[in-house]
Amino acid sequence: MGLSSAYYLHQAGHNVIVLDKGDFLDNCSYGNAGYVCPSHFIPLATPGIVKQGLKWMLNSRSPFYVQPSLSGSLIDWGLKFVKSANKKHVETSAVPLRDIAIFSQQEYKTWASIPGFDMAYEHKGLLEIFQTQSMAEHAHHTVEKAKALGLDTELLSYEELQKMEPQTKINGLGAILFKCDAHLYPNKLMKSLLAYLKQQGVQLVSNKEVKGFEKNNKAVTKVITLKNSYEADEVVIATGAWSREIAAMVQTKIPLMPGRGYSLTLENSPYQFNHPAVLMEGRVAITPMDGNKIRFGGTMEVVSTKTPPRFERVEGILKAVKNFLPGFDIAMPSTDKLWYGYRPCSADGLPYIGRISKYRNVVVATGHAMIGLSLGAGTGKLVSELVDDRKTSVDLTPFAVERFGK
Ligand SMILES: Cc1cc2nc3c(=O)[nH]c(=O)nc-3n(C[C@H](O)[C@H](O)[C@H](O)COP(=O)(O)OP(=O)(O)OC[C@H]3O[C@@H](n4cnc5c(N)ncnc54)[C@H](O)[C@@H]3O)c2cc1C
Repeated sequence: MGLSSAYYLHQAGHNVIVLDKGDFLDNCSYGNAGYVCPSHFIPLATPGIVKQGLKWMLNSRSPFYVQPSLSGSLIDWGLKFVKSANKKHVETSAVPLRDIAIFSQQEYKTWASIPGFDMAYEHKGLLEIFQTQSMAEHAHHTVEKAKALGLDTELLSYEELQKMEPQTKINGLGAILFKCDAHLYPNKLMKSLLAYLKQQGVQLVSNKEVKGFEKNNKAVTKVITLKNSYEADEVVIATGAWSREIAAMVQTKIPLMPGRGYSLTLENSPYQFNHPAVLMEGRVAITPMDGNKIRFGGTMEVVSTKTPPRFERVEGILKAVKNFLPGFDIAMPSTDKLWYGYRPCSADGLPYIGRISKYRNVVVATGHAMIGLSLGAGTGKLVSELVDDRKTSVDLTPFAVERFGK
């Protein structure tokens, strides 16, 4: 979100400085599954995830887990999440999520056409493979809904699915094929974006953790780090899973929790899969990317960023892969080969994109949870429109930063 915002703000003529507490070389935007996916019009907060989550909570290899804790922020987030997880919310979120995803996909296509900007972008669709009758029924409804939203989607029989992946035996009943979806190689996207910004003269300052803000007369005037301060006319808070704490520094409450996920990438994969795919009951994502690479990712652990990683969750991912694709016999690698990152999870599964009420020159862009890569390019453009007080390309009312209260 930060780099994409910088891209569009620079393009709009602003002098941009990006401060990062890390070195820009690892964050949630690197090891994700790379889906650019209008198909994800169902938000994270659904009645199903609450029911399923309660069942899964005691299993350390399960795909969804909330670490029980008495932390006020978790309790606040959890109550709001459960309250949001209803049918009406799922229905009203579909159009806004579709619109922002389609908008963002268009922007990615523009990036893909910049000479030298390589992100291994491919438009091959996304499979959602299911194994059980109840998931098949769910898939049938999803396809109807997707078609009603105008998304190019098809329900595939087992034979049709197997035909798309002739070299790999699939243990499933069928699949949804979202032809509307694309994917990319996130590591290349980040590399290209960093190189492009550098070349354009955008200042990228690493190892600068934002510690506070200086304010004057309802405006933020300086961004404070440990040893420096940076004057600012406009401030964009795009600090991912850490954004709740940073927003609190400008007296703004955003219910947000880190949702840790893990991935494993085989660089020269002996296994072949032609299309990105979600293994539905296993909640695992498989993405063939950038030639001969294949990435397996999943799990959603709602935890503090200080909780040590639980790598046994990756065993759960590999078990689900073997269950769906019996030929994929992947041994658990050493932990240095595994990646994990923290999704910034809002309390209703919709991002927070907009201005705040306490200060007149602060924009927030976070909370994208499972779809931050997909919405990355579009969000950056929306941020630049907000900063310039232009009409936004997408209606941002459903994504209002203070929708849970001030
Ligand atoms: C396993 C997995 C698979 C996923 N697959 C997909 C997918 O296929 N498609 C999709 O759309 N999304 C996917 N996601 C989600 C997506 O990766 C995230 O939503 C997205 O990367 C969030 O981007 P961000 O810019 O908000 O956060 P980040 O990429 O985490 O960036 C936040 C930055 O803020 C910096 N920061 C934090 N605090 C401070 C501070 N105080 N001062 C300075 N800097 C600070 C951090 O150092 C970091 O660089 C997946 C996530 C996971 C874990």
